[in-house]
Amino acid sequence: MVFKKSQKMRRTVTITKETRDGILSYCKMSHPNEGILILRGKYKNSEVLVDGLVIPPFFHTGPTFAGFPHNFLPLDPSYVGTVHSHPTGVARPSVTDLHNFFGFVSIIVQAPYEDDDLFAYDRDGNLLEMNVRIDKI
Ligand SMILES: [Zn+2]
Repeated sequence: MVFKKSQKMRRTVTITKETRDGILSYCKMSHPNEGILILRGKYKNSEVLVDGLVIPPFFHTGPTFAGFPHNFLPLDPSYVGTVHSHPTGVARPSVTDLHNFFGFVSIIVQAPYEDDDLFAYDRDGNLLEMNVRIDKI
């Protein structure tokens, strides 16, 4: 891939179908509360590859908030970001979401948690391109 110098390079996110489906069922299970999970994978050449999920330790959740204390997380280089659900409203990052940004990507899932209800954002709240991969990464 060739980028012109004037073009700002944005991250892209690639997620396995298996992981995406896991996120969707977790969000449905957590409903009407928010669900939150750590994304596992790799970060290479501005591409975030997500192929696993981790339930964060000591997480707390409610209808409009889900979080976990970041200082309890081991410094694991395979933790590339987080995903959480918005049981009400649209999948836009809130100010709190941006303040609690962790890793390279934040995925937000809006109800009713169907295949098209996932959106990926960077630290500045820019929407990132997300691809779903059928095979393993
Ligand atoms: Zn949120």
